[in-house]
Amino acid sequence: MIQNNMMGLGKNRSTIRELFEFGRKRKAEIGAENVFDFSLGNPSVPAPKAVEEAIRELLSEKDPVSLHGYTSAQGDAGVRRVIAENLTARYGVKCDPDLVYMTCGAAASLTISLNALVGEGDEVAVPAPYFPEYRVFVEKAGAKLVEVPGDEGFGLDLAAMERAVNEKTAAIILNSPNNPTGVVLKEAELRALAELLKKKEKETGRPVYLISDEPYRELIYRGKKTALPAAFYPRTLTCYSYSKALSLPGERIGYIAVSPEMPEAGDVYAAVCGAGRALGFVCAPALFQYVAGKCDGVLPDLAAYDENRRLLTDGLRAIGYETASPDGAFYLFVKAPDGNARAFSEKAKEFEILLVPGDDFGGPGWARLAYCVKKETIERSMPAFRALFESYGA
Ligand code: PLP
Repeated sequence: MIQNNMMGLGKNRSTIRELFEFGRKRKAEIGAENVFDFSLGNPSVPAPKAVEEAIRELLSEKDPVSLHGYTSAQGDAGVRRVIAENLTARYGVKCDPDLVYMTCGAAASLTISLNALVGEGDEVAVPAPYFPEYRVFVEKAGAKLVEVPGDEGFGLDLAAMERAVNEKTAAIILNSPNNPTGVVLKEAELRALAELLKKKEKETGRPVYLISDEPYRELIYRGKKTALPAAFYPRTLTCYSYSKALSLPGERIGYIAVSPEMPEAGDVYAAVCGAGRALGFVCAPALFQYVAGKCDGVLPDLAAYDENRRLLTDGLRAIGYETASPDGAFYLFVKAPDGNARAFSEKAKEFEILLVPGDDFGGPGWARLAYCVKKETIERSMPAFRALFESYGA
């Protein structure tokens, strides 16, 4: 029998996808250059040159049968070793290659981790605003997503987290740099959260896992540094994706690293392998596993994103918009002039601007602009943004 919940998910596209499709039609009607499409987080800089070089090397070095053949279910051992060594060398976190599981991007990293660790009756606490697919992933795993409000600057509100975590909490999902706000959590916030979770574990007597969703880890500006939650909290699963850092979202490659610092790491890893198996996510795409092994840590053209970030933030603030202060990812959160983000997104369409209302992200009143676009799109959009702002009588 058709499962109604799945049919519902299939029929009701996400707001982001709806807008993207609207944009596609509108571009065909009036020309792509006349639509200011800030809807989708699709990297706008090409994959670094090292990716092409790695592919060429692999095609000439490896015999085609093994290059395109199955790897072990959890991924190629050599690639997992490189990833573990780099995590330790770059971020000072302990990592064991035998606790790394290669995945089809961050979405798979998250669904595998959730299915490994949460079930019926459990709660998963998520600081808001957050990536809307979390709700789909959490609910498919049988659990309930509990939104935890953030602080005024879209950082962690530890008091709210303290109130949200209880004996039903199986996991929390953290995402820094954040989609949709671009905010990067500070080391002090991560340390304080780690202490809070350890205290909660003692009080409730149950482990709380920290699922750290890190697809934007390297996309950081203004000389800011990022610390990894795994450095402070033993029960961490580092969920990574090469989609954004290597501009490879269509190739579907990432990983989960289970921290060896948690006492039950072997069992958690077994559950990760089991969830990967049950969900059909065994043996991530082989060619791109090897590319990841060669290019792990290679950075994209951050200067291009940084310039877009400055242009858009400064431009919108000069017009009068209130915005968040993004240090990472490629998103800017902008306040709807009258506080109604859905109406703001609809009105923006009249000015050929596509922006996503924050309501689905747990950030009502705000809208997300993905600035992974051509610089000219931002420059050319400014008169439209001004007209949009003035249409509010401001
Ligand atoms: N998590 C966050 C916060 C994202 O923004 C995205 C994609 O935009 C994903 C996960 C999914 O990433 P992937 O394409 O690697 O599955």
